[in-house]
Amino acid sequence: MSDCLFCNIVEGSIPSHKVYEDDDFLAFKDIKPQSPVHVLVLPKRHVEQLSHCGEEDKDLLSGLMLTANRVAKKLGIDSSGFRVAINSGKEGGQVVFHLHLHLMGGARLSDQMA
Ligand code: 5GP
Ligand code: ZN
Repeated sequence: MSDCLFCNIVEGSIPSHKVYEDDDFLAFKDIKPQSPVHVLVLPKRHVEQLSHCGEEDKDLLSGLMLTANRVAKKLGIDSSGFRVAINSGKEGGQVVFHLHLHLMGGARLSDQMA
């Protein structure tokens, strides 16, 4: 078993409620949802956090955004609207150090960002 919670979810050794999967990305429901739809979208490859990404991760980062779009469409919130958020580092509120984005929607979200 890996030390990383999300790598274990990717490998299937920890269960999750998957909503989307392809060769490179996975999306599953957040265990503690902050909105009616709250899904985490992540690359299967372990990258610790956004601030560690560089030029070499262009494809991974654009793929992550496009996967969020695809998942929003699949969950039927693409036209009603949604928010994506990435927490990077401790003061950014990151708790799980495997890059992921939060895809939230299903209701009017507050204007507050934190
Ligand atoms: P972060 O604060 O790192 O950006 O977000 C981590 C997110 O992972 C939190 O919203 C938290 O609720 C979610 N989370 C933590 N542990 C688990 C878990 O075991 N399963 C799932 N599905 N979500 C988790
Ligand atoms: Zn990981």
